[in-house]
Amino acid sequence: MNLTALPAFTDNYIWMLDDGTSAVVVDPGEAAPVQAALDARRLALAAILVTHHHGDHVGGVDALRSRLKGPVYGPRREQIPTPYVALDDGDAVEVLDQRFEVIEVPGHTAGHIAYFHAGREGAPILFCGDTLFSGGCGRLFEGTPEQMHRSLSRLAALPGDSRVCCAHEYTLSNLKFARAVEPDNAALARYSADCEALRADNRPTLPSSIAVEREVNPFLRCDQSAIVRSATRHGAASTAGSDVFAALRRWKNDFR
Ligand SMILES: [Zn+2]
Ligand SMILES: [Zn+2]
Repeated sequence: MNLTALPAFTDNYIWMLDDGTSAVVVDPGEAAPVQAALDARRLALAAILVTHHHGDHVGGVDALRSRLKGPVYGPRREQIPTPYVALDDGDAVEVLDQRFEVIEVPGHTAGHIAYFHAGREGAPILFCGDTLFSGGCGRLFEGTPEQMHRSLSRLAALPGDSRVCCAHEYTLSNLKFARAVEPDNAALARYSADCEALRADNRPTLPSSIAVEREVNPFLRCDQSAIVRSATRHGAASTAGSDVFAALRRWKNDFR
């Protein structure tokens, strides 16, 4: 199986998984990059997976239907271009003979879902949309800090070698914030240098892995004492994980 990040708009990635004959794409915000990739590699489009309703994730769905050989899948509790197969937490979908489990991860939007493939020959794969980013997380447009903290905790509990396929290249700005939160984290300093080299070369910093995110992403480290101290200085109501998370998220909203 080949896993490819197709750049779209200014900083989106449309993830494509293919077996050499057929492909599935995730969150096609625009159709043109998908059509170009399918044509270049002579792939059929077997299915579309959608994580949430934002336009930069669903804008290309209808234009791709004419060449789509299978369903569009998406979260039940959101407005996704119809027709689509509505999914709930705990559901599973079979695409390209691979099983993906549905994990409901509300916070960025109210019904956001992620897709997790446990992996057979390769490492597991997580398509997490705008919930978990490398070094950061999505903004809370529709959910509460408690919901997002719980959603991220579920993703953090996945196997460490899971490939984290996020929908945006926000890594460098996220890591700048992460270093402000946790200046003495050596793993974070090393990872930042690696990602800066990749971006200088115009290469994606993704996929990341759950193991890396557990080491560098402050939003997955709300129980670490250095992070609790930083969050307390920035108004955390208590040292409880969801309060630490809420303070970090507010701080990040205004961080430049
Ligand atoms: Zn979004
Ligand atoms: Zn987005």
